[in-house]
Amino acid sequence: MVVLVLAAHPDDEILGAGGTLARHALAGDEVHAVVVSEGAGSRYGDDMVAKLQAQARCASIEIGFAALRLEGLPDQRLETLPLIELTQRFEAVVEELRPDTVYTHFPEDVNSDHGVVARAAWTACRPYRAPFVRNFLVFETPSSTEWAWPLTGSAFAPNHYVDITETLDAKVRAMACYESELREYPHPRSERALRERAAFWGSRIGRVAAEPFCVLREIR
Ligand SMILES: [Zn+2]
Repeated sequence: MVVLVLAAHPDDEILGAGGTLARHALAGDEVHAVVVSEGAGSRYGDDMVAKLQAQARCASIEIGFAALRLEGLPDQRLETLPLIELTQRFEAVVEELRPDTVYTHFPEDVNSDHGVVARAAWTACRPYRAPFVRNFLVFETPSSTEWAWPLTGSAFAPNHYVDITETLDAKVRAMACYESELREYPHPRSERALRERAAFWGSRIGRVAAEPFCVLREIR
């Protein structure tokens, strides 16, 4: 089975679905990751772009991605691109890989890039264009989903959980690759907070650790 994760910034693919993607890889699925933005321009100098790319490759090996594509679009400025531009990039990837399952961002996150990626992904996977996509799920991104604008009326309410008890360590190791993105506890992007969050979601469903998702479309 081919699995595709479409993420806005380097580390989102791990924060949102790292444990789940590691499970897919262990099960023999072909997992492809696309990271849209270079993730550095809004905060650091150009030298950081190469550093983040190296961190992303390190994380990719920990999870077992079959391939990682770094699109290198400008950080925190995806809103300035016509949506069609990103949609067409995703359409090309979806057409080439023909994924069964697609993971991307919850669109109401505080980070506007996440919303742009989610909407372009949803459009690129529309049923008559990509009928092979049977599962379309959105993930939470710690330090972004929980800080979403609170008045939209659509909070992240998961209806799908993946037991990541066996792969939480791989997720934590992958996030350790992103040393520039990790913070001290109690920041959501600290190792301890990531483990606690996995335990929180796990406890909801009687598992030691879990990642939560909203299913936007499922075809059986
Ligand atoms: Zn992000």
